[in-house]
Amino acid sequence: MGTAAFGPAGAQLPLWSGEAATGNLSVRESRRARRLSMRVSTSGRVEVTAPLRTAPRTIERFLSQHREWIERQREKARRLALPAQPFPPQQLELSACEQTVRIHLAGGKGRIRLTPAATDVLTIAGDVSRPGALREALQAWLMHRAREVLAPMLASVAAETGLHYARLSIRRQRTRWGSCSSRGTISLNCCLLFQRPQVVRYLLIHELAHTLHMNHSPRFWQAVAQLCPDYRRLDRDLLQGWRRVPAWVLER
Ligand SMILES: [Zn+2]
Repeated sequence: MGTAAFGPAGAQLPLWSGEAATGNLSVRESRRARRLSMRVSTSGRVEVTAPLRTAPRTIERFLSQHREWIERQREKARRLALPAQPFPPQQLELSACEQTVRIHLAGGKGRIRLTPAATDVLTIAGDVSRPGALREALQAWLMHRAREVLAPMLASVAAETGLHYARLSIRRQRTRWGSCSSRGTISLNCCLLFQRPQVVRYLLIHELAHTLHMNHSPRFWQAVAQLCPDYRRLDRDLLQGWRRVPAWVLER
């Protein structure tokens, strides 16, 4: 056999013992391996291949160095593992404003028309037989709704913290929740609508704090911590927040 199981390596990898115990990590020794390598399986399990007689400490360090990469791969695996979502959705959970919007397909011909009602029903009339057209219409509505919800939130957090911004732009993107330009334009992702109010508030504080420090230096984080003591937990929640965004929102 060219390979030998490293066994339940938990005891030998202190930081990772929990992961090994739950089967989220496996280490395999390989006679042919010349260096450490790893892959993340579709279930999120980290599989390390190590040259013979690699010290557990070396493996530990290798894993720690690639912590962020592992988290990204796991996030991707989780996204792919999500059950297929029906489209159009029956309702939208807009957590940011604690609103559930029920979608009512009214039928009809011609251009798609979305009519929001005060009673939290979004009526969609027109020809919805081409899914792409309906998706685009819903995406456009979401962008509009994002401005309605996020603009007053940003204005009130700015007033409360005494921080100033020049203007707000709403985007729909896969990679970032927000940004702040050197001219003071704050861009917010419409996907924030699917996040809890405290998480959105943290992101607004984060972007406003960039008007003081255009970087992620210790001084920047100090400013954030002063305005939002719970920022670490909320920042982690936000990293996981992509899971709360329905797939159709980000489709092109
Ligand atoms: Zn930032």
